[in-house]
Amino acid sequence: MFENLSERLGGVFDRLTKQGALSEDDVKTALREVRVALLEADVSLPVARDFIKAVEGKATGAAVTKSITPGQQVVKIVHDALIDVLRGAEDPGTLKIDNPPAPILMVGLQGGGKTTTTAKLAKRLKEREKKRVLMASLDTNRPAAMEQLAILGTQIGVDTLPIVKGESAVQIAKRAKQQATLGGYDVYMLDTAGRLQIDQVLMDEVAEVAAATKPRETLLVVDGLTGQVAVEVAQEFDAKVGITGVVLTRMDGDGRGGAALSMRAVTGKPIRFVGLGEKMDALETFEAERIAGRILG
Ligand code: GDP
Repeated sequence: MFENLSERLGGVFDRLTKQGALSEDDVKTALREVRVALLEADVSLPVARDFIKAVEGKATGAAVTKSITPGQQVVKIVHDALIDVLRGAEDPGTLKIDNPPAPILMVGLQGGGKTTTTAKLAKRLKEREKKRVLMASLDTNRPAAMEQLAILGTQIGVDTLPIVKGESAVQIAKRAKQQATLGGYDVYMLDTAGRLQIDQVLMDEVAEVAAATKPRETLLVVDGLTGQVAVEVAQEFDAKVGITGVVLTRMDGDGRGGAALSMRAVTGKPIRFVGLGEKMDALETFEAERIAGRILG
């Protein structure tokens, strides 16, 4: 579906004279192709623009040896720069969950995969880290969402907080904290309500829950195929409630995952995990190299 960036650049450089170092013109010509590739991969325009500017400085004058073509050299410089942006200092798969019971707040828009990801992550913590996990749904508007979490809990063998009708999100969160403490759980995960779009009521509710539970991690779950929307959602949630990381779902789809670059560049927050399907095992630790390769096609 997409033309491979190396092939694309190969074509460009065939028309240029090969020299010992990349000239300013070579780089400019090549980066025009890179820019198209980034936009095709759904990287947002301002992020693509800034990224290209940063790479331009690095690439101009870079040595081209006989063993590689100028096109390959540009691809390598771009690839390394992408990884630099995508990879944070922290280990993405390790969550701050010492001092039990550690609260993990799951936030995001409706349909982004929040409930599914809550259960996937609970399963992972249970199986890989031998943690005792309690999950609670705070989606008071959608009884079906609460039941969905309970069903997933049964399926993966993780406890869910019993549903009590008529409670507010904060009341449920406090009850989850109490039950996690009394029940000797290591972690309690709060699956907050989603909305179709960001609104003040949702943000206030999430902020109130955060104030009552002081989460160790606040993970934004966002559809990796939504490009620019994902970036706006991340900015908004980070500004209002402060996120500690991002989970990109639907990365099993056709998208090239440019949202990862945009979100990282704009919020500075690490991508922690990627969702790769509907099954409970379809969650992987984020790997910068893989996404960089995918973005470049
Ligand atoms: P929520 O409204 O944010 O809680 O979203 P849900 O967890 O209910 O997910 C919405 C739909 O997306 C469900 O049908 C999930 O099975 C599906 N889904 C969630 N994560 C992924 C993923 O990584 N890949 C795919 N293909 N589907 C997913």
